[in-house]
Amino acid sequence: MTEKTVFKRIIDGEIPADVVYEDDQCLAFRDIHPQAPTHVVLIPKKEIASLDDFSEADQALAGHLLLAAGKVAEALGVQQEGYRVVVNCGAGAGQEVMHVHFHILAGRPFRWPPG
Ligand code: AMP
Repeated sequence: MTEKTVFKRIIDGEIPADVVYEDDQCLAFRDIHPQAPTHVVLIPKKEIASLDDFSEADQALAGHLLLAAGKVAEALGVQQEGYRVVVNCGAGAGQEVMHVHFHILAGRPFRWPPG
């Protein structure tokens, strides 16, 4: 059996997290190593390793996550100032935790193109 990811352990309540949003399908909590004054990670409760691992059956969940990202931004009070949503897909793009997640960042200027 493969080992649980740190995010699955948070879902299962085995390790603590500073939760800012939760519904029946997803959970958002503050990143432990924030890269901006506001940095939250939004994850589906369903175990999906990466963006590449969404199937057709996950279409509603994918849309739910996008809508939830906006709700998280609203809950954090960053909608007016603007925020960035980032998904690292695969090790080559910097994905370290193999449980798909959206980074929601705000509170500082963001450059384009991203580094
Ligand atoms: P990624 O590099 O896209 O896989 O992002 C994984 C993110 O998860 C990183 O920004 C980490 O700082 C964050 N992270 C890892 N462990 C925890 C944890 N226990 N609680 C909150 N965030 C975490």
